[in-house]
Amino acid sequence: MTMLIPFDNSYARLPEAFHRPTPPTPVASPRLVAFNRPLAAELGLDAAALAAAEGAAVFAGNVVAPGSEPIATAYAGHQFGQFVPQLGDGRAILLGEVVDHAGARRDIQLKGAGLTPFSRRGDGRAALGPVLREYLVSEAMAALGVPTTRALAAATTGEAVLRERPLPGAVLTRVASSHIRVGTFQFFAARGNVAALKDLVDHVIARHYPEAADRPDRALAMYERVVARQASLVAQWMHVGFVHGVMNTDNCSIAGETIDYGPCAFLDAYDPRAVFSSIDQHGRYAFANQPGIAQWNLARLAECLLPLLSEDQDAAIAQVTLALSAFAPAFETARLDGYRRKLGLTGDREDDGGLVQELLDRMAEGRADHTLTFRRLAAVAGGDAQAGPRDLFDEPALFDEWAVRYVARLGQEPGDGAARRESMERVNPAIIPRNHNVEAALQAAVEDDDFAPFEALAAALAAPYARSADDSVYAAPPPKDAGPYRTFC
Ligand code: AMP
Ligand code: MG
Ligand code: MG
Repeated sequence: MTMLIPFDNSYARLPEAFHRPTPPTPVASPRLVAFNRPLAAELGLDAAALAAAEGAAVFAGNVVAPGSEPIATAYAGHQFGQFVPQLGDGRAILLGEVVDHAGARRDIQLKGAGLTPFSRRGDGRAALGPVLREYLVSEAMAALGVPTTRALAAATTGEAVLRERPLPGAVLTRVASSHIRVGTFQFFAARGNVAALKDLVDHVIARHYPEAADRPDRALAMYERVVARQASLVAQWMHVGFVHGVMNTDNCSIAGETIDYGPCAFLDAYDPRAVFSSIDQHGRYAFANQPGIAQWNLARLAECLLPLLSEDQDAAIAQVTLALSAFAPAFETARLDGYRRKLGLTGDREDDGGLVQELLDRMAEGRADHTLTFRRLAAVAGGDAQAGPRDLFDEPALFDEWAVRYVARLGQEPGDGAARRESMERVNPAIIPRNHNVEAALQAAVEDDDFAPFEALAAALAAPYARSADDSVYAAPPPKDAGPYRTFC
């Protein structure tokens, strides 16, 4: 008989300080409302059994599948700049790990599975709306090619959770390369637990950065790689117009994946100052602040590692400072390379950065839709100016003036327009999880128990670059008079 989930757990073997054994709390009436079959197959799970009744029981937390060793993990974190020495999984339970078909170790975690030793004042539960939002957006990010946690399943509980009002409860099953965060390091650093920090570095290197295993300065080698992955990740967020919304250090993955989709949202009209989260009152996590915040978070990680580096602490500080100084150029390079691809530029001209910036400035001024502007540029680059993005600008002349410069730059490119158009359509999506579409799908599920809009949107988000996506209802921006979008999480 095949195992439902072929668990192979490593985090649970780390010393006691890392976690607390925590079984999920069974719920009244488990029902599987979403199941990601392709992901289940990738993970080597028994998809047929899990798609049926057993899946509802496992993914709602009513049955602990054989081989699972459920734990709540310990971590700390800076929340909006304030250090909290103990956070931890307050409503998430790590069931264990599997090794996927590509040989990569992946966490399987329930989110909203009941109280844990880290729940503090919380109820350990999640509401259906946010669970479906994370499902949709994380899967969309995966389809867009952005490193991210994945969504394996969503189950409703048949129980209400009390927020501003009673809401249907749900549990999300999340898959991650790991759930180790900057805050995991902070938890041990704040306690002066150097032995645990060493264990954590060893675990992270074995799991995420095996090429650093033979370096004598292992902690520093790990750090350099975390810096590089965060720089690349945040650049990719910018390319798709993603605003994470709550980039606290406990939501900053050591593996460089997008993690913890709470008040996140996507840009419609381009606005570098965009903030969607109602709790981000000062705009700390605004769109354009994201690289600076990632760098700030990495500085907090650097502080944790100092006891593992040179005994001469001045030398240790110099080492991590140098390593962190690689962030800004790595981010800028990744950012510009990505925009070059979005503009269909293969060569590397000195004023390409200026060309990109001028477009973005004009998009901000003209309140042009971020996604569609780039998507329709493919038509311009392919020689069909009629199908271009000029109408997306409040003042189309804002685009026309820039387009003269762009077309001149394209003249220096090799290759033909048709090929350029195709390559641009592979990096400029037609469909992103637009806030108004996500809201409508969530509302139908939550208010009317109607999951058809959720399923239709999830299917559309799975093929964001397809030619057919251009004609999808999900490609359209919200009405211009829709008003500002706010997220509450
Ligand atoms: P987040 O803002 O989702 O990153 O969560 C920050 C901290 O609050 C983490 O320690 C979470 O586990 C905890 N938390 C969030 N929601 C709940 C809840 N409903 N019950 C218990 N803990 C929670
Ligand atoms: Mg979190
Ligand atoms: Mg969260």
